[in-house]
Amino acid sequence: MTTTEIDTKTFRAFGLDETTLRSIGAMHYEHPTDVQLEAIPLALAGKDLVVQSRTGTGKTAAFGIPIVEKIDAEGAFVQAMVLTPTRELTAQVCEELGRIGHDKGVKAEAIYGGESIEKQIDGIRAGAQVIVGTPGRVLDLLRRGELKLGGVRFLVLDEADKMLDMGFAQEMSDIMHFVPGERQTCLFSATIPLGIRGIIHNYLNEPSWISLSEDFAYVKEVRHTYIMAPAAQKEDVLYKVIELDQPTASMIFCNTRNEVRSVSTFLARQGLPVAMISSDLTQKKREQVMSRFRAGTIRHLVATDVAARGIDIDDLSHVFIYSTPDSPEDYIHRAGRTGRIGRSGNVVSLVSANDLVNFNRQANRYELELIEREVPTAEEITKRRTERLLSRLEEVALENTGELTPLVDALWEHPKGKLIVAALVKKRLDETSKVEVVDEDESDAPKENVSERGPGQQRRRRRGRRPRQVS
Ligand code: AMP
Repeated sequence: MTTTEIDTKTFRAFGLDETTLRSIGAMHYEHPTDVQLEAIPLALAGKDLVVQSRTGTGKTAAFGIPIVEKIDAEGAFVQAMVLTPTRELTAQVCEELGRIGHDKGVKAEAIYGGESIEKQIDGIRAGAQVIVGTPGRVLDLLRRGELKLGGVRFLVLDEADKMLDMGFAQEMSDIMHFVPGERQTCLFSATIPLGIRGIIHNYLNEPSWISLSEDFAYVKEVRHTYIMAPAAQKEDVLYKVIELDQPTASMIFCNTRNEVRSVSTFLARQGLPVAMISSDLTQKKREQVMSRFRAGTIRHLVATDVAARGIDIDDLSHVFIYSTPDSPEDYIHRAGRTGRIGRSGNVVSLVSANDLVNFNRQANRYELELIEREVPTAEEITKRRTERLLSRLEEVALENTGELTPLVDALWEHPKGKLIVAALVKKRLDETSKVEVVDEDESDAPKENVSERGPGQQRRRRRGRRPRQVS
């Protein structure tokens, strides 16, 4: 790479305001991502854009930076609006915009259902220049006359395909009546189905198209693997893979809510730190689960596509596709949860005979390079678990000052030496860690279910590992 090439791949090369550069620096973004490199110059030049890019590629800053650049920080009126499908995405986008616009003094307000409308109205009245919101609540505030969009010059439709999926087509169309025709519009969407083409035709003006093909699950670092497993054995196979791979954090996608419940209960009964996310969780509960997931207290989230919308976690090591989705696009959305910027990731699909038609369809559609895995054997799991425990015990060994050596020698010779050592090791492991099992439905708390295990079930409830301490 020549020096000039390096120079053109910096945020400074976009000719951004010093305040914006300072904010980006404070966020530790060193180099623009691919989508940012392509979208930012065009957006700054005033072009309408269609950007085919999924979450995790840096797309928020791809529109966030041009928005901040275009805002007149002195003007206390709404100048830009971002519509997103979910409250979580709204909150995340608003937070990122707030950070990018921090030094310039740009004020962004998040508007979504389930939160106090009065607080949001206060934010608008306080002079928010950017509104980020879900279509329903935005429309509500427009109709009440609390939100005025007459000064909007920049409109973003974020995750537009999801907005359509969630049935927001009418709201989006209604909102357009409140936004001036003289504006710049950018549409971001992981997929471009027919409905999105209609939106592009109706609301965008000769847009430039940016399509980052490697986005489409070609994210090179992601390993796409699959295991053939009869439907009735999937839970067990999933558990074995988790035991072998020890994901630092994973999402497990199911097709139905019943499946979500069954899988999360099963894993919880094995003692794994798991929680399920369902769409009827209260916002508060959802946030609690998410913050415990981010903190590593919960390591596995089980969800349907609908329930997982808007959940954005950067460092998932694994995505498990428990049942193959009907639409190939959903595979991309699921798989795209891992392998975020510069990170590696694993996608593991559990494929039964019922899944085969859909599975082959998605493999062909995206020309996925799929690697078949075998079901982990008990020996492999035991070996891996032993290795992990040994490495932890090695850490303990460092604490030994040598004064116990005579005792250890005696133990070595003792007829019950092995039993004593086993008991000591167990005690030590139990002390140093504890696993927390969480289910959003308290009445179904898996702790109580442990005793329900059948006599044939060998697995003990595993205590003794604190998430993220062992890899
Ligand atoms: P997004 O696709 O907007 O959800 O971004 C995914 C993640 O990448 C977020 O955590 C961003 O904060 C982060 N990110 C965005 N742009 C950059 C960048 N240029 N360098 C490093 N991280 C970034």
